[in-house]
Amino acid sequence: NTSKLPNVASSIFSVMAQMAHTYDAINLSQGFPGFDTDPKLHALVTEAMASGYNQYAPMHGIYSLREQIALKMNTLYGSAYDPENEVTVTVGATQALYTAISAFVHQDDEVIVLKPAYDSYEPAILVNGGKVVPIQLEAPDYKVNWKVVKEAITPATKMLIINTPHNPTGTVLTKGDMLTLEKILENTDIILLSDEVYEHIVFDGVKHESVAKYPRLAERAFITASFGKTFHTTGWRTGYAVAPKYLMKEFQKVHEFSVFSVHHPTQKAFAQYLKTPRHYLALGDFYQRKRDLFLDLIKESRFNMTPSSGTYFQLLDYSEITTENDVLFAERLVKEKGIASIPTSVFNLDQEDFKMLRFCFAKTDETLEQAAEILNAI
Ligand code: PMP
Ligand code: GLN
Repeated sequence: NTSKLPNVASSIFSVMAQMAHTYDAINLSQGFPGFDTDPKLHALVTEAMASGYNQYAPMHGIYSLREQIALKMNTLYGSAYDPENEVTVTVGATQALYTAISAFVHQDDEVIVLKPAYDSYEPAILVNGGKVVPIQLEAPDYKVNWKVVKEAITPATKMLIINTPHNPTGTVLTKGDMLTLEKILENTDIILLSDEVYEHIVFDGVKHESVAKYPRLAERAFITASFGKTFHTTGWRTGYAVAPKYLMKEFQKVHEFSVFSVHHPTQKAFAQYLKTPRHYLALGDFYQRKRDLFLDLIKESRFNMTPSSGTYFQLLDYSEITTENDVLFAERLVKEKGIASIPTSVFNLDQEDFKMLRFCFAKTDETLEQAAEILNAI
């Protein structure tokens, strides 16, 4: 067998999105907004194209965009990333995550992954010869048991991956989590990979605790972010990574020879658009309204829920409805009821025990109303 990833199947996101399409179902599965981005942002991209920004961009991203990213990190989190050496524009957070893993994980290195985990981490670790050390977060609150994380650390631990706000559970790490993590990692060489693509989607007055706010974490960390999530442009495949220079130097070696550089006109547009912080600071309230609407619409349903604290996902517990496993139940909902969601066992360690489906509420109010009508009748 020449496969480097013999046990990796198609991403559940594309499987469910395809099923939604086939059965003409309301699609609350794959996480993407069901409405368009700001027309001003379209105009900035076409303007950049018309102005001739149609050849290779600089390898690490155009300077004006890296500058805006560093400025945003400084304003929001008080961190000082040097745009010249510590910021790289990537093809979405997916490439940022892959590149960080690929630049540092050697054969047999261990990477601690908190489950449920976003599905791109593990294949990236495996294809680079690393070993996944999974730690299960426990329902219903999915808080990290840091004692268990500490016990999982061995001399072979190269990296720890965290994700806050967390897909698919919607939990957010607290200041207490970050301070504990500082203690756990001190006196180790472990690299922290902090996936913060939902940094601006945090609810109920809580503030996003970026690793960038904690110098003792930031000094060993990559932080990944996504313009797709923040500006409703998942199809433009643009994001970035920030890290201290000694880490970013290695990251950029892999980036240069796998990607070289990212779509030029899009970078021009984001560099301009980021100058108005309102464009991302309003996002939390925007999605909180959607979350509240969705939860209010389904409050009489037989699903149980703990409101999501961040991201644009809501987990719904269906244990009162059926004992079916989540993959079968999700498939049946698409085929028979016309609504698509994501079964969560695929992100978990114990594949049987999770009677939970993930619903994306980044949709128009009308779509959420139609979805609720179906969910209330189940
Ligand atoms: N990390 C998490 C937790 C995500 O949910 C996603 C997108 N679904 C990504 C990374 C990838 O982001 P991008 O679309 O920018 O590649
Ligand atoms: N991040 C999206 C989600 O969680 C999907 C991204 C993808 O399909 N690769 O649904």
